[in-house]
Amino acid sequence: MPQANRMYSVVIGAVNGKFSDVFAKLATLHAKQNFAFAIIAGDLCAKSDIATDADREELAKLLRGEITVPLSTYFALGRQPLPDEVVDLLEKGHGELCSNLSILGRKVSMKTADGFWIVAVGGAHSASIDQSMSQYAAEYTNDDAQAAGKGLTNADIVVTSDWPAHVQDGTKNRYTGTPPPSVDSIANLCTSLKPRYHFSASEAFYEREPFFHNGPSPRSVTRFISLAPYGNTAKAKWIYAFSLEPAVDASKHLPPGCTASPLTGGKKRKLESQESDFNSFRYANGNGTDHYRPDQRRQKRSRNNPPPIPNQCYFCLSNPSCEKHMIGSIGAEVYLTVAKGPLSTHQTFPELGFPGHVLMIPYEHQPTMSAISDAATRQATVTEVQRYRDALQRMLVEKTKGEDGRAKLGAVTWEISRHSGVHFHWQFLPVPVDMVQRGLVEAGFDKEAENLNYPKFVKGFKEMQEIEEGNFFKVMIWSEALRKEMVMPLDGDFRFDLQFGRRVLGKLMGLAQRTHWKDCAQTVAEETADVEAFKKGFKEFDFSFEE
Ligand SMILES: [Zn+2]
Repeated sequence: MPQANRMYSVVIGAVNGKFSDVFAKLATLHAKQNFAFAIIAGDLCAKSDIATDADREELAKLLRGEITVPLSTYFALGRQPLPDEVVDLLEKGHGELCSNLSILGRKVSMKTADGFWIVAVGGAHSASIDQSMSQYAAEYTNDDAQAAGKGLTNADIVVTSDWPAHVQDGTKNRYTGTPPPSVDSIANLCTSLKPRYHFSASEAFYEREPFFHNGPSPRSVTRFISLAPYGNTAKAKWIYAFSLEPAVDASKHLPPGCTASPLTGGKKRKLESQESDFNSFRYANGNGTDHYRPDQRRQKRSRNNPPPIPNQCYFCLSNPSCEKHMIGSIGAEVYLTVAKGPLSTHQTFPELGFPGHVLMIPYEHQPTMSAISDAATRQATVTEVQRYRDALQRMLVEKTKGEDGRAKLGAVTWEISRHSGVHFHWQFLPVPVDMVQRGLVEAGFDKEAENLNYPKFVKGFKEMQEIEEGNFFKVMIWSEALRKEMVMPLDGDFRFDLQFGRRVLGKLMGLAQRTHWKDCAQTVAEETADVEAFKKGFKEFDFSFEE
């Protein structure tokens, strides 16, 4: 450990574009503490596709040098792609964005002016990346993680956007909510460098008990700390000052509560196969493994075979391959797409002029609604998806009102909520109002569940609430005159058909041959035409234009 005059440093979670606020607060602290340097472990900029005008103005001010960065600050390449103008400047400035503010990058090892080694791996983990991409594209591979620490046997600080695999093993401090992806190559990096601090960023603050690495005495001890974003509503810790001073008697005493390293013994992940499976049934219903793959039957996702991360998830807008031409509306927490290979066709509902099969997808990459760790975001997502559903239903009423003033269509919304899922969402499909009124939709679901020996649907409010604590399939049946909800528990030991919703409604509506989206896939031109027709029809009901 070098002898530095300044013995404290400070680490910050995601800034998400709030530069003025964060750097003003940092300046106040720095005036008292005289930090050696600062690290931003989370995303520096606001997410491009949801950035507000205020965010863009903040960024412009930063780039014009109108916001003072009070001390030498290194920011991680986070999981969100950086705005183009930032990438341009970094490329021109060799990693410096403005005075005192430099990027750590995808795979970096560097020595600070005070002589501390920082090793960083940034971006979202990917099985492979296009080598022609910018060096500041927000992705890294296992090879990058390995290359970052090459030639070093230790480091003072490791900064990674993903967590090391198994970091929560053997600890009493569990992270509440869904942590960032945990990756074996990041665990290997931490094991080989034995840093004093390993920093990351997450939705909530997390600090593991310190752990010691195997090896001769004195054993190296690592503290793993993951910072919450600045301005998070839960007021979780987003800034953390830490000592760079060597621990007293480190050779003899381990810190209180210290455990053995949980990071050893990680196995190689099978990300690639998981990823291609997932991609292949995106719109079929991405929330689980595919029913029609005999070799995948009953496969439970293990720790070594984790779900796709946002950059690979086709429901995540941050995935470059996300099919953005399917998007029908963009809300604050949720967006709508027309269904790929919709169950209904242009002819099914002539009053509408488009199929009307729609997906409502939250921005949050979580397997279930309850997995959204931030309570405010969770509540806002629940509220907005309900609002979208109401708006879609109002559209059906207005578009199909007959001479008697009554709508010709009702609607069914269904949801698969499983902890083992990937990126949860709701499907929405109009149905003839008669089917709803005569109880045929409800009976259709009951009957098909019985045919397949599934558990019975539960329909009482209190029992539904209990079942919704676990894994479940939910159906919401609606017409102007009728509301009906029913829930099937999915916790039992049976194989649930992810096409169940489409299967039941396909049978009812004479569209059984379209149960699988793959059997009715459309060209991009057809999809685009559907989206345009949908947008036109939905426009006057789409509240996202109002805000
Ligand atoms: Zn996702």
